[in-house]
Amino acid sequence: MPAYVRADKCDGCNGRERVECVHICPNDLMKLDADGSDSGHELKAYNQEPEQCWECYCCVKVCPQNAVECRAYADFVPLGGSVQPLRDESKIVWTIRFRNGEKKRFKFPVRTTPDGSADPYGDEPEADLADLADHGQLFTANTHECDFSQFGAAVGVDDAGS
Ligand code: SF4
Ligand code: SF4
Repeated sequence: MPAYVRADKCDGCNGRERVECVHICPNDLMKLDADGSDSGHELKAYNQEPEQCWECYCCVKVCPQNAVECRAYADFVPLGGSVQPLRDESKIVWTIRFRNGEKKRFKFPVRTTPDGSADPYGDEPEADLADLADHGQLFTANTHECDFSQFGAAVGVDDAGS
């Protein structure tokens, strides 16, 4: 189920330098309804195209008000359960609620870097894209053949994808 904004919790990112969910959505789906004419909720965000939402959870994690919720896929969240993250400067806490009322929490550290300054490799060696064509390196080993021809020289394969 797509991400949706709880109007009772959203404050429109009032006082922040940007509207966080609008900024983060890779699909440009979140919108701030400045005058309430679209959603009926003035100065609240809403998901303007839910059918395009791929449920990536970015907006759910970034919202400082914990106002965005997402009903996760039934294959990892049983009917009636929920998965809700809450993030701060140093950690993200995932709260899992089971339909029998049981609740579990998992806490992980987060990496916080200024916009545009993320170093994807850190101290680790950069990825060798040629490894994409090496089934011995992937979990797909011996499961199926992949067509890597679209990547061409970038992964060191010829037109036949070998
Ligand atoms: S990030 Fe949260 S509080 Fe800010 S506008 Fe979006 S839903 Fe509202
Ligand atoms: S879950 Fe992802 S794709 Fe869907 S609205 Fe939020 S940020 Fe956009």
